[in-house]
Formats: sequence, structure tokens, C-alpha cells
Amino acid sequence: MTDTNTRLTGLFGNPVAHSVSPAMHNSVFQALGMNYIYLAFQVAEKELAAAVSGIRGMGLAGVNVTLPYKTAVLPLLDKLEPQAERIGAINTIVNDNGCLTGYNTDAAGFMTALRGSGYRCEGQKAVVLGAGGAARALVFALIRTGTEVAIINRTFRKAEALAEETGAAAFEMHDNGYRKALEGASLVVNATSIGMSPGETASPLPPGLLRPGLTVFDTVYRPRQTRLMSEARASGCAVIGGLEMLLEQGVLSFELWTGRAAPREVMRQSAEAALE
Ligand code: NAP
Repeated sequence: MTDTNTRLTGLFGNPVAHSVSPAMHNSVFQALGMNYIYLAFQVAEKELAAAVSGIRGMGLAGVNVTLPYKTAVLPLLDKLEPQAERIGAINTIVNDNGCLTGYNTDAAGFMTALRGSGYRCEGQKAVVLGAGGAARALVFALIRTGTEVAIINRTFRKAEALAEETGAAAFEMHDNGYRKALEGASLVVNATSIGMSPGETASPLPPGLLRPGLTVFDTVYRPRQTRLMSEARASGCAVIGGLEMLLEQGVLSFELWTGRAAPREVMRQSAEAALE
């Protein structure tokens, strides 16, 4: 039930029709009896500035921002949380009496999910597959913990640029590149869209390179079990799925808007149901 006191949160992106965030957040608002609602807004590029002004103008508590606006939205905000500023992309805006601050809960959510699995980054080497928006957040987050990072990307100059900016190393996406990057690594993170529905028969990593002792984190969450995850499990690797990161970034955004802890299990169940 909404009324004149309902606080509005939501998602700005294009497209937004397949997002599971409305289900995740609304289920928690209901479970906690909070007078909040989360709506998905499909925002056209030329209307992004007007939509952001609308957060102030209509007093929204805050929003998530998804593709393709995670970077484009930065100049429209008043402040950036320091890690979000370093990454150069945000996925959450908090409205504090008209002052809009941008946060990157993808990076923090990834680290929470990784640590929650029991994996410890300190002194380790990680291979990140991809050099797009998600990879960028993960590479910054890993480097910050002192992890050695190797980046592999289809477009090599993008891997090189991200490596140069962060102090990581860059490798080509071919057999020799994979092999060199994986030498001494204990973590592989897929931050490409390879394996994502409807392309679920594909995997970003040749299965021959998977071995026991490796932790494999696939950020893809649709399907929930990707080919990479199945092959990694069959090879004796520890496996973490993208749902964990999706959940943790949602938990953090919820806490930023409301100041309350989100019950993970409620959020998880609604995310799982929405992904079915
Ligand atoms: P993005 O900025 O568009 O980057 C896409 C990345 O995938 C690029 O590195 C791109 O390589 C690579 N790629 C795409 N198709 C490829 C192909 N056929 N072969 C080789 N490489 C290919 O997208 P993004 O926002 O970073 O998202 C990447 C993935 O992260 C998606 O699967 C998304 O679901 C996932 N993600 C998950 C969460 C979560 O909460 N679990 C959050 C954010 C993102 P090029 O540079 O060569 O184009």
C-alpha cells in the first residue's frame, strides 16, 4: 500500500525490463513493513539530466543506475564517494536533502560476496576476464586489497588501458595469454558477458585451464548456473555465482537509502524467484 508518505526509490537505465532489483527491494520493504517503493524507469539518453533533476525535484530517497548510464551520470551528481570516484562509475545515488552522492556498490558487493565465500585476497593473484564497466569496478576493488591482478580482454587495448590505470597486467584473450595470466593465480573472475543468456552455451575460459585449488567467480547471474560454473565445479574448483554479487550490491544500496540492514534471505528468495 502506498500513501502520501511513501518514499520512492528505483532504477534508471535502458533497458530495465529484465531487472530483478524491483523484486529484491520491494520484497524487503514489505517484509520490514517500510513505507518505501522501488520502481524501474526506462530513461532515454537525452532525458538523463531531467531524470536526475527529478530525484531532487520529487524528493526520491535515491536510485540505482544501470547500463548505459553508470559513467554518463557522474557529471550530474553533487558528490562521489572516493572509491566510486576512483572507479569512474556508479550504480547507486543517495539523495540527502537535494544533495546527490554517487556510490559504486558493485565493487563493494563483489568484495563482500568474495569474502563471504571464505576466499582471502591478501597475497593472492587474480585473473579478471573482461575490461568493461563491471571488470573496472572489480579490478579497482581487488588492487585496493593488495591482490596482484591480470586482465584478459577480447579488445586488448582496453585491457592494457585498465591495467595501466590500476597497476594490473594485461594479456591477450588466446591460449598463450590465458596460460601466462593464470600462472600462480588462485582466483578467476568472469566479468565479460560471455555465458549470459541467451548465449549460455559459451564459456569465457578453456576448460583445460581449470584445476582444483582455483576459485572461480562468475559475475553472470542469468542463467544462475553458467557453463563456466559447471565446468569449474567438475574440475574441482570452488565456485561463486553472480547472484551473490547481485544480492550484496542490493543489500548495500538498500542500507544507503534507508539506514537499515536488509534481510539477505528475503532478498535472495525474491531475486531467485525473479530469475526463474
Ligand atoms: P560491458 O561494459 O558492456 O563489458 C562487456 C565485457 O564483455 C567487455 O570486456 C567485452 O569485451 C566482453 N565481451 C562481450 N562479449 C564478448 C564476446 N563475445 N567475446 C569476448 N568478450 C566479450 O558490460 P558490464 O557492465 O561490464 O557487464 C559485464 C558482465 O558483468 C555481464 O555479464 C553482467 O551480467 C555482469 N555483471 C554482474 C553484476 C552482478 O551484480 N552480478 C553486476 C554488474 C555486471 P570487449 O571490450 O572486447 O568488447
